Amino acid sequence: MNNAHGAPGRTSGRAQPRPAPNHELLAALDLEDRVRLLTGADNWRTCPLPAIGLRAMVMSDGPAGVRGQTMDERNPSASLPCPSALGATWDPALVSELAFALGTEARSKGVDVLLAPTINVMRTPLGGRGFESFGEDPVLIARLAVAYVDGLRRAGVAAAAKHYVGNDSETQRWSYDARIAEHVLRELYLVPFEACVREADLDLVMTGYNMVNGVTMTEHARLLSIILKDEWGFRGVALSDWHAARSTVATAIAGLDLAMPGPAGPWGSQLTDAVLAGQVSQDEVDAKVLRILRLARRVGALGPNGASANGGPVLADPALLRRCAAAAFTLLRNEAGVLPVDLNTIRSIALIGPNAVSPVTQGGGSATVPPVSVSTPAGALTQALAGRARVIVRPGCVTWSSVPEPDLAALRDPDTGEPGIRLEFRTEDGVLAGTEHRTATMFTWWDGLPAGIGWGGRGTIVLRARYRAAHGGPYVIGAGGVGCLELRVDGTQVAAGRSGVPADPVEVMVRPGEIRATVDLAEGQEAEVGISLRPEDWPQGPVAIRLGIVSAPDGDALLREAVAAARTADAAIVVVGSGPATESEGFDRSGLALPGDQDELVRRVTAVNDRTIVVVNAGMPVLMPWADQVAAIGCCWLPGQAMGDALADVLLGHAEPGGRLPVTIPVAEADCPVLHSVPEHGRLDYTEGLLIGYRGYDRAGIAPRYAFGHGLGYTTWEYLSAAAESATVGPADDLELIVWIRNTGPRPGREVIQAYVEPASVEASRPVRTLAAFAAATAGPGETAEVRLSVPARAFARYDETARGWVWPPGEFAVRVGRSSADLRLSVQVKSLFFRTELGSPGPATPHARRGVPFRHARTRGGGLRRRRGDHGIGSPKGWRRGYLAFTAKSA
Ligand code: BGC
Repeated sequence: MNNAHGAPGRTSGRAQPRPAPNHELLAALDLEDRVRLLTGADNWRTCPLPAIGLRAMVMSDGPAGVRGQTMDERNPSASLPCPSALGATWDPALVSELAFALGTEARSKGVDVLLAPTINVMRTPLGGRGFESFGEDPVLIARLAVAYVDGLRRAGVAAAAKHYVGNDSETQRWSYDARIAEHVLRELYLVPFEACVREADLDLVMTGYNMVNGVTMTEHARLLSIILKDEWGFRGVALSDWHAARSTVATAIAGLDLAMPGPAGPWGSQLTDAVLAGQVSQDEVDAKVLRILRLARRVGALGPNGASANGGPVLADPALLRRCAAAAFTLLRNEAGVLPVDLNTIRSIALIGPNAVSPVTQGGGSATVPPVSVSTPAGALTQALAGRARVIVRPGCVTWSSVPEPDLAALRDPDTGEPGIRLEFRTEDGVLAGTEHRTATMFTWWDGLPAGIGWGGRGTIVLRARYRAAHGGPYVIGAGGVGCLELRVDGTQVAAGRSGVPADPVEVMVRPGEIRATVDLAEGQEAEVGISLRPEDWPQGPVAIRLGIVSAPDGDALLREAVAAARTADAAIVVVGSGPATESEGFDRSGLALPGDQDELVRRVTAVNDRTIVVVNAGMPVLMPWADQVAAIGCCWLPGQAMGDALADVLLGHAEPGGRLPVTIPVAEADCPVLHSVPEHGRLDYTEGLLIGYRGYDRAGIAPRYAFGHGLGYTTWEYLSAAAESATVGPADDLELIVWIRNTGPRPGREVIQAYVEPASVEASRPVRTLAAFAAATAGPGETAEVRLSVPARAFARYDETARGWVWPPGEFAVRVGRSSADLRLSVQVKSLFFRTELGSPGPATPHARRGVPFRHARTRGGGLRRRRGDHGIGSPKGWRRGYLAFTAKSA
């Protein structure tokens, strides 16, 4: 074929015909095609309609990486810090930069829509998916979510913010009914969604599986049509979570636009019939089609230049990931300045803990990506300290529940001898239908079975490898999957059994059923290990097969060796945290205690080494019963591929520990305001109302172990003064605040200044104070920084269920400024003078809020601030241009 006009999908230099306007494209489609467009073509793609120049749009999970269309070690991904780590940065600019890099990677993999960000609120620290959230405060989440959506957009990728709404825990997530009062929805759970719609012109919203107040979310006309679309002006696509659309008419008329995945589903010909029967109007269908066409235009899926990927994958820059992981590291305690490690006095380090050797860098479930690399604390610190300090590594204990996957270096393909393993796909008759050499030990098939294999035991997946034992002794071998499993060692069956179908499909990835055997191997012995799996009759899948091999652990010996190493070292760094299946989509956490013997490990190490530095590797709060005994504590969250390198940067002082807590850490589990995630009779009652996270601790007068917003850095700060531009507040104006702080420590640093609004008097059901704004400053030793914060008008309002709108009740407010919700150092008084109501939700009061970037005042000659054009404040002080220090700050 003559290719003189260029390859398909590439610009040829000639003017290309522009796609017709959307309403003309719509007019060119018959009802079947219109309806076809409303269900996915497969698991990850929308339906293409070549007749109107529309290609399929590709979707892929986020939020901590982009997988692409396969879950496969041959197509690895950059693995980002988890969202709670990003929450700890309190840095919208950094999150936007990271999201841009993620979007660039997505584009390069042909992905148009990233199924991210997750903007549910951490209601309870038990929530299995808490690591996927930016934190417990809706304002913090909203600021970071807007930045994330914006970063993706700049890379040409559409964001699907999820899961709308009330999907805040995992137990029975497919069906539970979250009972949430309207004002609680408005003031907490809807806030991040509203911000992304109003400020970032969000492209997609993903509805959850759950119900809210008795109506399942995909059928929730009030939340989907009245609030999201009519009131907030959402112009994008409301898509279902995977398989969440479970009815035809109710979902169609409620405002759902796209049912995923496909091609099966409740719409298709059933929806066409419903339109022909008059149960769903044609206008309803057309409105959905127009929204999908608008999305297609925004991601470039319409017209002749619609090709999505060109060239190979461009993974996010590892240096950026390392910088982000360091920026998220939250230093909670640092007695006598034990950190950063001073190599003049510390010449030997005992690096202890299960997560020092096998860190948990990502949470489980759809957010997981096959990482391109992982730097472990053991590897990175040993390398960073080579020639400067002696490092002894001891795991101290184990925390796994499935037998850990072996080091790939210990495995080789039995057929070729290459590093890795062999997969075989055998038909029901035992005929070899296919075989692959692979370099992983866990495989998942989301999109149907491999060729030759049928459901319900019709065919077998076989994993074979030669394993070389590093030392002599007993080894535990595990074979995982859903179905009938057999485990053989050197041709002899050592275990067989059938593992059940899990309660939630994603458990297959994180903790599939497993059969085990223990075998003795001599040092250097190679054994051929084989697993065969006949998949269960479970067509919704997914299918997985997994090999685990580990030297049988001796708990007492592990603990003893760790303590012995700590006793003789100048300092001990203990990396504890979640186990491989502690935090995941599909199930909630069973408690907040560290799994296994980790608390005991920390206690014993501390007893023999008073320079014990504990690093907590978890995406959510954990209990720290040893907190007052150790020298230092830092949270590194689930930091992605850069974990070890970023940890070395921070511990050795090459990078500032930049994090502040996005979530409160309790002293005891019982202190948590919300400690239940198990629905009763299918209902999850949000009886705590507005009192989640620090709002609940403050109201109950319970001091947390570490407060929301807390984080130390390597320098110290004095809060000098604060001033507001106005003495009065109301619906039309944000309140501009200026705060002066001084770096009183020995190093340059970055400080996150937090402003909380505290009404003078308030009912017991309402929070004492709420985060309203935050901003960061950097300053060198002895330097003063001036920081501007814009407190949104909404911070002084509450949602009134009777008036069905936001009201600004008259009264006094303190705007308190400080380092955390419990360390407030300055205060400014403002008043709301009149009772004002805004029916529906007002838009952002000022244009800068719409753009989501910090607002800059121009300075007047007198040092005051000049108001921007078009900024109509209420009750601004006279003499504004001469200087605004009318409302002086005082110590709080
Ligand atoms: C999850 C979503 C995810 C989707 C596709 C669902 O089970 O809840 O967050 O985007 O699967 O993987």
